[in-house]
Amino acid sequence: MPEIILVVEDEPALQETLAYNLKKEGYTVETAGDGRAALESARKFKPDLLVLDIMLPELDGFEVARILRREMTTPILMLTARDDEIDRVVGLEVGADDYLTKPFSMRELMARVKAQLRRARLLREEFDRESAETQSATREMQHETLVFDNLIVNLTRREVTLDGQPLQLKPQEYELLLFFAEHKGQMLSREFILERVWGWDYIGDSRTVDVHVRWLRQKIEADSAKPERIVTVRGGGYRFEG
Ligand code: CA
Repeated sequence: MPEIILVVEDEPALQETLAYNLKKEGYTVETAGDGRAALESARKFKPDLLVLDIMLPELDGFEVARILRREMTTPILMLTARDDEIDRVVGLEVGADDYLTKPFSMRELMARVKAQLRRARLLREEFDRESAETQSATREMQHETLVFDNLIVNLTRREVTLDGQPLQLKPQEYELLLFFAEHKGQMLSREFILERVWGWDYIGDSRTVDVHVRWLRQKIEADSAKPERIVTVRGGGYRFEG
Protein backbone atom coordinates (compact mmCIF):
# COMPACT_ATOMS: atom_id res chain seq x y z
CA MET A 1 0.00 0.00 0.00
CA PRO A 2 1.42 3.40 -0.91
CA GLU A 3 2.39 5.64 1.96
CA ILE A 4 0.08 8.55 2.68
CA ILE A 5 1.47 12.07 2.85
CA LEU A 6 -0.60 14.96 4.11
CA VAL A 7 0.48 18.26 2.57
CA VAL A 8 -0.63 21.32 4.54
CA GLU A 9 0.02 24.50 2.58
CA ASP A 10 -2.25 27.46 2.02
CA GLU A 11 -0.63 28.76 -1.17
CA PRO A 12 -2.58 26.96 -3.90
CA ALA A 13 0.28 26.91 -6.41
CA LEU A 14 2.78 25.46 -3.96
CA GLN A 15 0.25 22.97 -2.58
CA GLU A 16 -0.44 21.79 -6.11
CA THR A 17 3.25 21.51 -6.99
CA LEU A 18 3.99 19.53 -3.83
CA ALA A 19 1.04 17.20 -4.37
CA TYR A 20 1.90 16.67 -8.02
CA ASN A 21 5.53 15.79 -7.34
CA LEU A 22 4.76 13.50 -4.40
CA LYS A 23 2.09 11.66 -6.38
CA LYS A 24 4.57 11.23 -9.20
CA GLU A 25 6.84 9.43 -6.71
CA GLY A 26 4.02 7.01 -5.98
CA TYR A 27 2.72 8.39 -2.70
CA THR A 28 -0.93 8.86 -1.87
CA VAL A 29 -1.34 12.57 -1.22
CA GLU A 30 -3.98 14.35 0.82
CA THR A 31 -4.02 18.13 1.08
CA ALA A 32 -5.22 20.76 3.50
CA GLY A 33 -5.14 24.54 3.16
CA ASP A 34 -5.51 25.64 6.77
CA GLY A 35 -4.71 24.45 10.28
CA ARG A 36 -8.13 23.15 11.18
CA ALA A 37 -8.49 21.19 7.97
CA ALA A 38 -5.01 19.80 8.66
CA LEU A 39 -6.11 18.40 12.03
CA GLU A 40 -9.23 16.88 10.50
CA SER A 41 -7.35 15.27 7.63
CA ALA A 42 -4.58 13.97 9.88
CA ARG A 43 -7.13 12.28 12.14
CA LYS A 44 -9.08 10.91 9.20
CA PHE A 45 -6.28 9.66 6.95
CA LYS A 46 -3.62 8.79 9.55
CA PRO A 47 -0.82 9.85 7.19
CA ASP A 48 2.68 8.36 7.28
CA LEU A 49 4.17 11.84 7.00
CA LEU A 50 3.04 15.44 7.36
CA VAL A 51 4.52 18.23 5.24
CA LEU A 52 3.44 21.24 7.28
CA ASP A 53 3.71 24.90 6.40
CA ILE A 54 3.97 27.26 9.38
CA MET A 55 2.06 30.35 8.28
CA LEU A 56 -1.48 29.03 7.86
CA PRO A 57 -4.99 30.42 8.31
CA GLU A 58 -7.06 29.30 11.34
CA LEU A 59 -4.27 27.56 13.27
CA ASP A 60 -0.61 27.96 12.45
CA GLY A 61 1.77 25.06 11.83
CA PHE A 62 3.24 25.26 15.34
CA GLU A 63 -0.19 24.80 16.87
CA VAL A 64 -1.06 21.97 14.49
CA ALA A 65 2.21 20.15 15.32
CA ARG A 66 1.69 20.65 19.05
CA ILE A 67 -1.81 19.19 18.95
CA LEU A 68 -0.97 16.26 16.66
CA ARG A 69 2.12 15.32 18.66
CA ARG A 70 -0.14 14.34 21.53
CA GLU A 71 -2.20 12.10 19.27
CA MET A 72 0.21 10.46 16.84
CA THR A 73 3.88 9.77 16.17
CA THR A 74 3.68 10.70 12.47
CA PRO A 75 6.90 12.41 11.38
CA ILE A 76 6.48 16.12 10.65
CA LEU A 77 8.52 17.98 8.05
CA MET A 78 8.00 21.71 8.58
CA LEU A 79 8.23 24.35 5.89
CA THR A 80 9.65 27.60 7.19
CA ALA A 81 9.79 30.91 5.39
CA ARG A 82 11.39 33.31 7.80
CA ASP A 83 14.35 33.37 10.16
CA ASP A 84 12.20 33.87 13.24
CA GLU A 85 10.22 30.76 12.29
CA ILE A 86 13.43 28.75 11.97
CA ASP A 87 14.44 30.00 15.40
CA ARG A 88 11.17 28.72 16.84
CA VAL A 89 11.46 25.35 15.13
CA VAL A 90 15.04 25.04 16.32
CA GLY A 91 14.60 26.47 19.79
CA LEU A 92 11.27 25.10 20.90
CA GLU A 93 9.82 21.71 21.35
CA VAL A 94 7.27 22.07 18.58
CA GLY A 95 7.40 18.44 17.64
CA ALA A 96 8.89 18.75 14.16
CA ASP A 97 11.23 16.00 13.01
CA ASP A 98 12.87 18.05 10.31
CA TYR A 99 12.41 21.33 8.51
CA LEU A 100 13.00 22.88 5.11
CA THR A 101 13.49 26.56 4.46
CA LYS A 102 11.60 28.17 1.59
CA PRO A 103 12.48 28.35 -1.19
CA PHE A 104 13.58 24.74 -1.58
CA SER A 105 13.98 22.46 -4.56
CA MET A 106 11.67 19.50 -5.19
CA ARG A 107 14.73 17.29 -5.17
CA GLU A 108 15.61 18.47 -1.68
CA LEU A 109 12.05 18.00 -0.47
CA MET A 110 11.87 14.50 -1.92
CA ALA A 111 15.12 13.49 -0.22
CA ARG A 112 13.85 14.68 3.16
CA VAL A 113 10.49 12.98 2.65
CA LYS A 114 12.16 9.68 1.80
CA ALA A 115 14.56 9.94 4.73
CA GLN A 116 11.73 10.56 7.20
CA LEU A 117 9.56 7.76 5.82
CA ARG A 118 12.43 5.30 5.80
CA ARG A 119 13.36 6.23 9.33
CA ALA A 120 9.79 5.83 10.56
CA ARG A 121 9.62 2.44 8.84
CA LEU A 122 12.85 1.24 10.46
CA LEU A 123 11.77 2.42 13.90
CA ARG A 124 8.43 0.66 13.47
CA GLU A 125 10.14 -2.60 12.50
CA GLU A 126 12.57 -2.27 15.38
CA PHE A 127 9.72 -1.56 17.78
CA ASP A 128 7.77 -4.59 16.55
CA ARG A 129 10.81 -6.81 16.87
CA GLU A 130 11.59 -5.56 20.34
CA SER A 131 8.00 -5.98 21.48
CA ALA A 132 8.10 -9.58 20.31
CA GLU A 133 11.41 -10.15 22.08
CA THR A 134 10.20 -8.53 25.27
CA GLN A 135 7.07 -10.64 25.29
CA SER A 136 8.97 -13.86 24.88
CA ALA A 137 11.51 -12.99 27.56
CA THR A 138 11.09 -14.17 31.11
CA ARG A 139 9.69 -11.87 33.73
CA GLU A 140 12.87 -12.06 35.74
CA MET A 141 14.92 -10.74 32.83
CA GLN A 142 17.30 -8.01 33.87
CA HIS A 143 16.81 -4.87 31.87
CA GLU A 144 20.02 -3.65 30.36
CA THR A 145 20.63 -0.09 31.49
CA LEU A 146 23.18 2.68 31.13
CA VAL A 147 23.41 4.77 34.29
CA PHE A 148 24.74 8.34 34.40
CA ASP A 149 23.95 9.48 37.93
CA ASN A 150 20.31 10.50 37.89
CA LEU A 151 19.99 9.84 34.15
CA ILE A 152 19.19 6.24 33.30
CA VAL A 153 18.79 4.78 29.82
CA ASN A 154 16.89 1.51 29.77
CA LEU A 155 18.02 -0.17 26.55
CA THR A 156 15.52 -2.98 26.74
CA ARG A 157 12.52 -0.73 27.11
CA ARG A 158 14.00 2.21 25.21
CA GLU A 159 13.08 4.37 28.17
CA VAL A 160 14.99 7.23 29.71
CA THR A 161 14.44 8.52 33.21
CA LEU A 162 15.78 11.59 34.96
CA ASP A 163 15.54 11.55 38.76
CA GLY A 164 13.25 8.55 38.35
CA GLN A 165 10.83 10.47 36.12
CA PRO A 166 10.35 9.12 32.59
CA LEU A 167 11.40 11.54 29.84
CA GLN A 168 9.34 11.89 26.68
CA LEU A 169 12.01 11.57 24.01
CA LYS A 170 11.24 11.50 20.32
CA PRO A 171 12.79 8.56 18.46
CA GLN A 172 15.60 10.67 17.02
CA GLU A 173 16.35 12.21 20.42
CA TYR A 174 16.57 8.74 21.94
CA GLU A 175 18.88 7.53 19.18
CA LEU A 176 21.09 10.58 19.62
CA LEU A 177 21.26 10.16 23.41
CA LEU A 178 22.06 6.48 22.98
CA PHE A 179 24.84 7.33 20.55
CA PHE A 180 26.30 9.86 23.02
CA ALA A 181 25.96 7.37 25.88
CA GLU A 182 27.85 4.74 23.92
CA HIS A 183 30.65 7.22 23.20
CA LYS A 184 30.96 8.85 26.59
CA GLY A 185 33.95 11.21 26.86
CA GLN A 186 34.71 11.15 23.13
CA MET A 187 34.69 14.23 20.95
CA LEU A 188 32.11 13.64 18.24
CA SER A 189 31.96 15.88 15.20
CA ARG A 190 28.58 16.97 13.86
CA GLU A 191 29.26 15.17 10.60
CA PHE A 192 30.11 11.93 12.39
CA ILE A 193 26.97 12.17 14.53
CA LEU A 194 24.87 12.95 11.46
CA GLU A 195 26.29 9.98 9.59
CA ARG A 196 25.95 7.51 12.45
CA VAL A 197 22.61 8.58 13.91
CA TRP A 198 20.77 9.75 10.82
CA GLY A 199 22.46 7.49 8.28
CA TRP A 200 25.07 8.12 5.63
CA ASP A 201 22.48 8.90 2.97
CA TYR A 202 20.55 11.40 5.05
CA ILE A 203 20.33 14.65 3.12
CA GLY A 204 20.61 17.24 5.81
CA ASP A 205 23.10 19.64 7.20
CA SER A 206 24.85 19.47 10.53
CA ARG A 207 22.38 21.99 11.88
CA THR A 208 20.01 19.04 12.26
CA VAL A 209 22.42 17.75 14.90
CA ASP A 210 22.50 21.11 16.68
CA VAL A 211 18.72 21.23 16.73
CA HIS A 212 18.41 17.81 18.31
CA VAL A 213 21.22 18.46 20.78
CA ARG A 214 19.35 21.58 21.83
CA TRP A 215 16.12 19.64 22.33
CA LEU A 216 17.93 16.91 24.21
CA ARG A 217 19.65 19.42 26.48
CA GLN A 218 16.30 20.93 27.39
CA LYS A 219 15.27 17.51 28.63
CA ILE A 220 18.38 16.12 30.32
CA GLU A 221 20.38 19.14 31.50
CA ALA A 222 19.76 20.81 34.86
CA ASP A 223 20.26 24.12 33.03
CA SER A 224 20.18 23.79 29.26
CA ALA A 225 21.86 27.20 28.93
CA LYS A 226 24.88 25.82 30.84
CA PRO A 227 25.06 22.23 29.63
CA GLU A 228 27.18 19.88 31.67
CA ARG A 229 26.18 16.57 30.11
CA ILE A 230 26.43 17.32 26.40
CA VAL A 231 29.18 19.90 26.12
CA THR A 232 30.06 21.82 22.98
CA VAL A 233 33.63 21.37 21.80
CA ARG A 234 34.78 24.57 20.15
CA GLY A 235 35.21 24.14 16.42
CA GLY A 236 34.66 20.43 16.78
CA GLY A 237 31.34 19.07 17.83
CA TYR A 238 30.03 17.62 21.04
CA ARG A 239 31.20 15.47 23.91
CA PHE A 240 28.96 13.54 26.30
CA GLU A 241 30.26 13.79 29.85
CA GLY A 242 27.71 11.45 31.36
CA1 CA B 1 1.74 29.74 4.18
